[in-house]
Amino acid sequence: PLVLGFETSCDETGVGLVRGRTLLSDALATSVAEHERFGGVVPEIASRAHLEAMVPTVHRALAEAGVRTSDVDAVAVTAGPGLTGALLVGLAAAKAYALALDKPLYGVNHLAAHVAVDELQHGRLAEPSLALLVSGGHSSLLLVPDLAREVQSLGRTIDDAAGEAFDKVARVLGLPFPGGPPIDRAAREGNPAAIGFPRGLTGPRDAPYDFSFSGLKTAVARWVEARQRAGEPVPVADVAASFQEAVADVLTAKAVRACRDHGVDHLVLGGGVAANSRLRALAEERCAAAGIVLRVPSPRLCTDNGAMVAALGSRLVEAGVAPSAPDVGADSSLPIDVVTR
Ligand code: ATP
Ligand code: MG
Ligand code: FE
Repeated sequence: PLVLGFETSCDETGVGLVRGRTLLSDALATSVAEHERFGGVVPEIASRAHLEAMVPTVHRALAEAGVRTSDVDAVAVTAGPGLTGALLVGLAAAKAYALALDKPLYGVNHLAAHVAVDELQHGRLAEPSLALLVSGGHSSLLLVPDLAREVQSLGRTIDDAAGEAFDKVARVLGLPFPGGPPIDRAAREGNPAAIGFPRGLTGPRDAPYDFSFSGLKTAVARWVEARQRAGEPVPVADVAASFQEAVADVLTAKAVRACRDHGVDHLVLGGGVAANSRLRALAEERCAAAGIVLRVPSPRLCTDNGAMVAALGSRLVEAGVAPSAPDVGADSSLPIDVVTR
């Protein structure tokens, strides 16, 4: 099926077209620059930017794919989780196209779409797979028996998301927002063993698949402040590398452990933090040692985009899942085990 996908859960306006598991186009507009001076995404600004960017982005996606709206077989849209006002813009656009074209509409889970996008690059996901989903708002370990129908949460962050930690640590280091890419870059020149930052929730009595990054973030801030108070220069590259190492260490150790405990030998990474070069390398290393097949989408597809939503939509059509009601609404905290709304 040819599926048109809409993504507006945060600050990216994404419109993608997918045929089966083939990526045809992935048009993106972002309001990230407008949020930079606030150090985080401002919901009202994001909603307005989606509204302005939507129609041109749809036209760009159609032109890049070389298809017409009349060719579209189904429409998919992120229904949650995300910012309500932002989600509503994507839903309104998706509903308008579905209604005008008289095609089925799928309101889908943004997090399941972060997993589904890998199918565009590496073919159908093995089931069951384990998914490590790490993004700006979420950090979860998921068991995926059937991506179209059944996704189970094994564990999640009890405080900050991994991406949030990157963004906050970047701020402490005077690096731009969003913090993931500049920390990744700075870390390349640093020593990951320079500072022993804490690994949250890794004690023998801690929940094996839950994460905590708020203690790590605070530890980095305290370390940097102590340096500044002493009038000493902050070794940005070493701090970035040591922080990044702590995050990658915990994420990969827990993901590999979850695979082993559940007898699953396929792991897929998803979400913006999966673009991190150290996380990718360490996951590669540890999965190889544990006999786990690792799949990671290219960095461009790890962060929010419309193609990931179209990819999940395509999977839903293929699986014969019933479409959403035409008045499907936004759910800012849509639970991870709800794939279609
Ligand atoms: P969610 O998917 O939970 O709703 P989101 O949509 O804001 O959140 P994504 O676009 O998936 O999140 O990811 C954005 C996050 O990814 C940001 O926190 C950003 O700092 C982080 N990120 C992007 N690139 C990298 C990188 N190379 N290393 C680490 N983090 C990264
Ligand atoms: Mg974003
Ligand atoms: Fe996302």
